[in-house]
Amino acid sequence: MELTLWTYEGPPHVGAMRIATAMEGVHYVLHAPQGDTYADLLFTMIERRDRRPPVTYTTFQARDLGGDTAEMVKTSVKDAYDRFKPQVMLVGESCTAELIQDQPGSLAKSMGLPIPVVSLELPAYSKKENWGASETLYHLVRTLLLPVVPPPNTPRPKRDPQIRPQANIIGPTALGFRCRDDIREVVKLLAEIGVDVNVIAPMGSTPDELKRIPDADFNICLYPEIALTTCTWLTRSFGQPVIKTVPIGVGATRDFIAEIGKVADIDVSDALARSQSDTLGNWDAARISTAANPNASRLPWYSRSVDSTYLTGKRVFIFGDATHALAAARIATEELGFTLVGIGTYSREFAREVREVAKKHGLEAVISDDYLAVEAKVAEAAPELVLGTQMERHIAKRLGIPCAVISAPIHVQDVPARYSPQMGWEGANVIFDSWVHPLMMGLEEHLIGMFKEDFEFAEGHMSHLHTAPSQESRALESRSPEQAIASISNLTNTLSNNSDQVILTPLAEALEGVSWSADGEAELKKIPFFVRGKIKRNTEKFASDRGITSITSETLYEAKAAIGK
Ligand code: SF4
Repeated sequence: MELTLWTYEGPPHVGAMRIATAMEGVHYVLHAPQGDTYADLLFTMIERRDRRPPVTYTTFQARDLGGDTAEMVKTSVKDAYDRFKPQVMLVGESCTAELIQDQPGSLAKSMGLPIPVVSLELPAYSKKENWGASETLYHLVRTLLLPVVPPPNTPRPKRDPQIRPQANIIGPTALGFRCRDDIREVVKLLAEIGVDVNVIAPMGSTPDELKRIPDADFNICLYPEIALTTCTWLTRSFGQPVIKTVPIGVGATRDFIAEIGKVADIDVSDALARSQSDTLGNWDAARISTAANPNASRLPWYSRSVDSTYLTGKRVFIFGDATHALAAARIATEELGFTLVGIGTYSREFAREVREVAKKHGLEAVISDDYLAVEAKVAEAAPELVLGTQMERHIAKRLGIPCAVISAPIHVQDVPARYSPQMGWEGANVIFDSWVHPLMMGLEEHLIGMFKEDFEFAEGHMSHLHTAPSQESRALESRSPEQAIASISNLTNTLSNNSDQVILTPLAEALEGVSWSADGEAELKKIPFFVRGKIKRNTEKFASDRGITSITSETLYEAKAAIGK
């Protein structure tokens, strides 16, 4: 058992639903208790889809358990086939159905339907949503393509150089973070370097289209959590190479183009050169008036322009699925000049990659799907900006730290009406705006540091976000990091009192035996609020290492000098 309040991922059958819903011509019969239809809302409300997902639930109730639930599966499969006439049927079970072991997949296969039936074995008690999506896509593709796999070691015929190379884009699903707009951006990038798109899967494709996957020269593994297993199988079976760079961020987009150049054996030097040279603010009058294709991101110039100087060294904590967390770490450190003070993922399957990046930055990665553990790590690292999921948005709000969402799980506001990709040149523009927006603007940061007594622009206030803070929000904003940490410790204590296992170590413990003199505290207050937590902790550690019990202003500056060395 695991005490869980929030979960980063749903059960694996939600992953299977994300595949079915992304496609046309696929129907999913899900053996599940009454009530599991809640998952429909993820698609009709969060994604605002205009129709129900293509899912038929058996919706068994308590009284059915005494009868023949297996018969319910057969009836549902038959009804769903008659009514929806899909090209392929997925059949699987949800958590509760897994316990009653009706083997719905095998049952459906034995019914002699005139279409392929894919039986999904998704262990709901050990695996989660992304894994479920990845397995479903893999089994679907495999079922459709197995009959045409050539004998082992058959060499792939060379591409006729007269014909433009073709790529499949694998991985975008329903409920994926910004998948809809990422696809458009990637298709644009490919067009720019002369690559045609063969199939985009699963988003927007049909089973018949999946059968054309082997026609492409290579596969683009756009969201590894969903697509890597399928892409690896396609390489093994059809000799199709895989593009593994995910084009989120300017550097990664350039690497993506370069990797395609190599794999497809095409000259991409023009596109790379243009993206290097054309990185100014695009204020050129002719360009603006002709709406010429930008072909490069504004991020490099924006982050070099003088207004961004104050961003340098901002302490950032990153958490999300592995793909987005890794991409964010690169952008934050290489393209915006932030300092990485924490990184982690809930995608256990990709923990190794995240650990490697963490190590490069002298950190230990947070590999966890327990949001309380993540919350404690955020509080401990005392960042100035959190880049995370919907959960980190809540965590950051409680701690009074600015935050931007970079990864699923997301809420409805992260499926916006406007064009807002994360990938490619335009994606980098979107990222620049959305990450910098929650931070205090440079001038205000400077002025609040100088004049702390202002009645309106109080500490922690960000006038570009809200001009007249309410009493409560002012109290929340001006909450010091130590108060924030204390609130987490309280929460932790409450939880650990209720369980037989201590979940987190109260963070305040380290500060024992050290107190602040009045003049030390006054000096501490002069430090801008967003770095105060860090400095307070460093000073306390400095004092306790040297046996100093009362911290004066002198101790504070000694600590600063010692740590600065
Ligand atoms: S079967 Fe699984 S998904 Fe459905 S309500 Fe129970 S725990 Fe939730």
